[in-house]
Amino acid sequence: MTALRPRQRETALRARRRASAWLLFSVLSVVAVAAVLGTAGCGAGGDAADGGALEVVAAESFLADIAQNVAGDRFTVRTLIPPGADPHAFEPTPKDLGEVAAADLVIVNGGGLEGPLLKMLENAGGEATIVDASAGLQSRSPQPGEPPLGSSETDPHFWLDPVLVKTYVANIRDAFKKADPAGAAAYEANAAAYTKRLDELNAWIKSQVATVPAANRKLVMNHASHGYYADEYGFSVVGTVIPSVGTGETPTAKQLGDLTAAIRKSGAKAVFVEIEENPKLAEQIAAETGITVVDDLLDHSLTEPDGVAPTYIDMMKFDTKRIVEALQQ
Ligand SMILES: [Zn+2]
Repeated sequence: MTALRPRQRETALRARRRASAWLLFSVLSVVAVAAVLGTAGCGAGGDAADGGALEVVAAESFLADIAQNVAGDRFTVRTLIPPGADPHAFEPTPKDLGEVAAADLVIVNGGGLEGPLLKMLENAGGEATIVDASAGLQSRSPQPGEPPLGSSETDPHFWLDPVLVKTYVANIRDAFKKADPAGAAAYEANAAAYTKRLDELNAWIKSQVATVPAANRKLVMNHASHGYYADEYGFSVVGTVIPSVGTGETPTAKQLGDLTAAIRKSGAKAVFVEIEENPKLAEQIAAETGITVVDDLLDHSLTEPDGVAPTYIDMMKFDTKRIVEALQQ
């Protein structure tokens, strides 16, 4: 295991502190809502109890789409982090703060993805209930032979496995039912219908990956984003340019040298970079090893409505096509 450099260690410590503070804040929010319900004695909370629609904000665009499928036509889920932005590095504005503080529910991915945003939410002082979409999911362990990441932080990229997104749907459904009991039957039906679509997406991805020769099912990623995807669909993770589940760290020369050696040894065909990240280091690695660079994965954000991936399911299909195309040769 690589020793943590001071900055990494500081980041890991900050993340743990944030997680603790976050848990406390979540508990306090739930207590606050429970207190309101107890006083009102009506068993319904939020604006929906007064006949208005719930005000719901989701941190990421893919999360807003998943939540909208559960909400159906009862209300519109707004997105906090704009399409094309990196959620690992998102710094909220005062306007974002106001929107979040005014919401009934704020849905986050959890697992440590929302760093500065969590701090903002801790200080926001609103009455929003936080919904952790990934609650109950366990962080993965590296596959045998997969390079260690040098930190013990949770891998938050659960959403890149549609099977795990079924847990997101259940958590979101339960939060909507609690905040708006009048819509319970609708949320149940919508969640069931969307879960079926996730099963169909899972089967579709499997059928696509089956067209890649087994020896080519090897992933080199810009950062450690596709562990759950690799585990679900039978890829091995050869390595990552940034040795972290986040995008904020810089690899050492030794780490880059180790990755180059691992690529040569494994015969990996391509390195995959998110569209919002700088592909320069991946391009250097590719030039040294002769592999292909795919630099337009959309795994952290949807596109605008008129783009190639306006929904979560579109996003997963787009990325799977890019991965499969690059590994088929
Ligand atoms: Zn990521």
